Amino acid sequence: MDERIEYEILDRISDAFFAVDGDWKITYFNQEAAKVLGRAKEEVIHQNLWEKFPEAVGKEVYHQYHKAVREQVPVFFEMYWFPRKMWYSVRAYPSENGLSVYFQDITNQKRLASKQEEHYKSLFHQNPVAVFSFDLDGNYLSVNPAMEELLGYKEAEYLSMSFIPLVTDAEIEKVKGFFMQAAEGKTQHYETEALHKDGHVVLVKVTNMPIIVENKIVGVYGMARDVTKEKKTEKLLFESEKLTAVGQLAASIAHEIRNPLTTIKGFLQLIKNSNGETKEEYYSILSDEVTRIELITGELLVLAKPQAQDFQQVNIGKMLEDVITLFSPQALMQHVEIHCEIPEIPFVNCIENQLKQAIINVVKNAIESMPQGGNIHIKVKAMDGSVHIMVRDQGCGIPKEFLDKIGSPFYTTKEKGTGLGMMTTLKIVQTHNGTLEIASKSNQGTTVKITLPIS
Ligand code: ADP
Ligand code: MG
Repeated sequence: MDERIEYEILDRISDAFFAVDGDWKITYFNQEAAKVLGRAKEEVIHQNLWEKFPEAVGKEVYHQYHKAVREQVPVFFEMYWFPRKMWYSVRAYPSENGLSVYFQDITNQKRLASKQEEHYKSLFHQNPVAVFSFDLDGNYLSVNPAMEELLGYKEAEYLSMSFIPLVTDAEIEKVKGFFMQAAEGKTQHYETEALHKDGHVVLVKVTNMPIIVENKIVGVYGMARDVTKEKKTEKLLFESEKLTAVGQLAASIAHEIRNPLTTIKGFLQLIKNSNGETKEEYYSILSDEVTRIELITGELLVLAKPQAQDFQQVNIGKMLEDVITLFSPQALMQHVEIHCEIPEIPFVNCIENQLKQAIINVVKNAIESMPQGGNIHIKVKAMDGSVHIMVRDQGCGIPKEFLDKIGSPFYTTKEKGTGLGMMTTLKIVQTHNGTLEIASKSNQGTTVKITLPIS
């Protein structure tokens, strides 16, 4: 191509362009180059590049151009040109008799990028959440001011340590495990106990996630929040809820016992005023009311903590047979037949008397649900490390809307009920780390299933 035409084209391309010959003499300098470098073409043309731009001598650009010429390879790089306070992206192509250089002003992009970087930096520095990063061995690479505050160490102190001395002994193995998972690419959320520089324990909620650069995991990011106060409030709330529950229970017990007590008091007054002419029926009423108090207090006693009673290995099959024997007179009277299926099953670790009481309460309800008679099926089986005890009746059932109420103190639908049986059973099952499920259909029957861990 004619050199003149070629240069005309180059004059119009949007990239800045200049060319030098083998002696670094500028042979071409297009309009854009003049604009970007702030030099008139007339001023530099046919002059030595390094004489016209002495600030560049010895700088990276100087070495890059020499390398391109010496090794006859194109070079690409970005440079900051301090006389103009501008950034350029440069491509230089060597030829036999010189070098052609194309470049662009990228100052704005650079500014934008550094602005973005500033944004990220401020997100890191101003964050109220503690933010930090580790290498793959768990050594700190960076921490933000919130992290300095969280555990009381200065940034420089963190940067010379790993997370290991900052976790309590009880938690360290667990935390190492989470860290390793994060270093393998799986983000982890967990709660743990960190150690403050002054020795006190800080409960923290932590997130660990991989730092991924060019598709490779190069470290782990962490974020942590102090939840000590939250946990304390939670505990307080829990305690106060427990107290409220106890308070409610006490109130309803007082109420339940006051009724028979009022009756007893009334009749004692009557007896006192009757001048020795006591009616026989007074005594039977008194006796009934006292029995009722006895019943209520008796059931409630089981609720007290299992202090004296010990856990023992117990043959549940044998225990169920005892319970059935116990009920046989009542069952016979009410035309109820009790069928049972009791295979050989492993012994269960339990408090025998309590568990027996729990089952008695369930079987008693089953019998009472069938005033006209019917069948009760009791089944036991061992499965998945647990023993399942199922008591199924064909009685009146429990309407869906009342299922939730079963086990609340004094909830009863029976004229002479206490509404304490299922609550006691539930409490006992919980003491044994077991579960209780009720499935029921109105007028078809109810199945109560107790599941207990074997060991
Ligand atoms: P109580 O037997 O003294 O009423 P429970 O706590 O044992 O107290 O039972 C509470 C209520 O749950 C009963 O009054 C009854 O309405 C219902 N219930 C419990 N078991 C059964 C069952 N197998 N069939 C029908 N209803 C039942
Ligand atoms: Mg009952």
